[in-house]
Amino acid sequence: MKCDHLNCCPQCQLLDTLAFDGHFMEDICSYLFPTELKNLGDAASMTRSALRNASDEVKWRLQNIVRWSSAGGKAQICKRDPSVAFSFGGFYPGGVALADLNITSDCNLSFRFEVTFSGWVAGDVMLGLTQRIAATPSDESAAALETGYEYVLGRGSSPPSVFVSAGSVTQCCFSSGDGSGPHIDSLSAGVWFRSAEMRCAGDWMEFQCTAGVITAIDAPGNFFQWKTEIGKGEVWQPAFAWSGGTASIRIVQCKRCAVCEKCVK
Ligand SMILES: [Zn+2]
Ligand SMILES: [Zn+2]
Repeated sequence: MKCDHLNCCPQCQLLDTLAFDGHFMEDICSYLFPTELKNLGDAASMTRSALRNASDEVKWRLQNIVRWSSAGGKAQICKRDPSVAFSFGGFYPGGVALADLNITSDCNLSFRFEVTFSGWVAGDVMLGLTQRIAATPSDESAAALETGYEYVLGRGSSPPSVFVSAGSVTQCCFSSGDGSGPHIDSLSAGVWFRSAEMRCAGDWMEFQCTAGVITAIDAPGNFFQWKTEIGKGEVWQPAFAWSGGTASIRIVQCKRCAVCEKCVK
């Protein structure tokens, strides 16, 4: 796929400086001896046949890559890999990205936010889930997304959300969709969390949704839980928001839904 790397995320821009489209492999190959070149080709065909004969679980992962489906404010989705969202910073309106998982109270799954490219976090990052407003995007939902991180904070016409606010202070929050903004979740009142900045490549936070109950763990060893649950008939989706941050974030499904096949796509 031809992609204008300079107009994409920091990773794509790096690829562009390496002149990835063909020249990069040519550069590597020109340093290899004939046997090494043959080994490289053999390894590629072995990988292809291993994937063809992989277990159902591995094939399912290959075929069901979770993607960011919409972004607002200053957030963008990588053109080369839609499982990566990024932002070039700015405190207001910051950015927000929503992923294409449809999580209901029937689901039993987990997903992860991973930093794929280190960035600058001077403000806050918010990781969690928001209730899906409409099955198909409308003018109103697009306008709400343009409010950036306020969408996850629950201001204006934003939907209900649960999230970890990381950065300067790490807190376990929710918003109820009435425009009143974020509140500290009562299950975490008085709990002190280790700082989770989501700034360096490899930093992650993993959310588990089991019969409507939402919990999360992260690399520093925190455990988060929310009193807010996914209600019967509601559909929620992973959401990530930045204010001032620039890290590139990948969304990954870690555990396939053990109950329904409806939450993917
Ligand atoms: Zn990109
Ligand atoms: Zn499900």
